[in-house]
Amino acid sequence: MEACTITYTNWMNSKWRSEQVGAMEYYNWEMPNVLIIYNLNSSCHQGSVPVIAVNATLPEYFQAMIKFAAKYHLRLVIKITGSDILARSTAPRSFLLWLHYMENMTLISQYSSCGSANVTNVVRLGAGVQWGGTGGFLQGGSHSLLSSWKGLGVDQVLQYDVVTVDGQRKIVSQCQNSDLFYALSGGVGEASNEALYATLIRDFVRFLPKLAEGGWVRYISMGDHKISMKYIWPNGNPNVGNATFSEFQNNNTDFVFLAKTTAFIPSFYEAYKLALTPSDPTGYNMLLGS
Ligand SMILES: Cc1cc2nc3c(=O)[nH]c(=O)nc-3n(C[C@H](O)[C@H](O)[C@H](O)COP(=O)(O)OP(=O)(O)OC[C@H]3O[C@@H](n4cnc5c(N)ncnc54)[C@H](O)[C@@H]3O)c2cc1C
Repeated sequence: MEACTITYTNWMNSKWRSEQVGAMEYYNWEMPNVLIIYNLNSSCHQGSVPVIAVNATLPEYFQAMIKFAAKYHLRLVIKITGSDILARSTAPRSFLLWLHYMENMTLISQYSSCGSANVTNVVRLGAGVQWGGTGGFLQGGSHSLLSSWKGLGVDQVLQYDVVTVDGQRKIVSQCQNSDLFYALSGGVGEASNEALYATLIRDFVRFLPKLAEGGWVRYISMGDHKISMKYIWPNGNPNVGNATFSEFQNNNTDFVFLAKTTAFIPSFYEAYKLALTPSDPTGYNMLLGS
């Protein structure tokens, strides 16, 4: 069958897409200039995808490719499934490390982790085991239907076999290269900024209904481990307002509250001038907004 017809037939087949070296699960990240899904008679072109790929089947490929990409200043991208909805596994004119065929799975009936008690029935997964095995799944959330019972996928990891950006291969666990282990596990532990930021977001989201019920309107921005909030309560009571925010602050003593200012403003026009007109800048990175 001709390539265009094969593509047309399988356009919405996620398994087929994951088996194509340059494809993503969602075509907006491939940016083909003609969509054959709408017109089979149109001519096919390569989309905005990596121009060359290595079908990596051994960890040594990782090391060689990372060094090669650094030496020749190539843009390196890594892909298992192409599921990344922010397209971090593709880039036009890039050099692709494709892990699709590193799909070994080995059952280890008894495993000793960091000298602690044996763990039974551990699975060693190759870097390309897909649909919820390694790579982006672990680094990007790894939630599942069982998460409320068993936790996130990343919480189950005992050990990683890692190639770092300088091309070195490292075993990473709670007792070996433990800083890297904490980072790869999403930054568990008290010392981690990521964990603290996750707590801040969680507590803040829990706090939102209380503010909404109280009649507050808001402008919020999040980034760089900070939340900036501008809350306005039309016809509100400043004492109640202060008490509400103090409660949030008192319940979250781990966070650094850089500035907390409340003001009673006698008219809407004054509030508008104070809160909205001084600066409403644009021209920076913005991902999601209202
Ligand atoms: C239909 C669908 C359903 C989904 N369901 C869930 C779900 O139930 N739970 C959930 O948590 N997520 C879910 N996701 C999100 C998915 O887990 C993420 O998109 C995840 O990033 C996919 O990981 P991947 O490695 O397979 O994808 P890719 O797109 O291949 O890679 C994602 C990212 O990981 C990087 N990466 C992959 N492997 C490596 C590696 N070995 N070393 C370094 N970087 C690597 C890539 O460079 C890229 O940045 C779903 C996505 C889709 C499209």
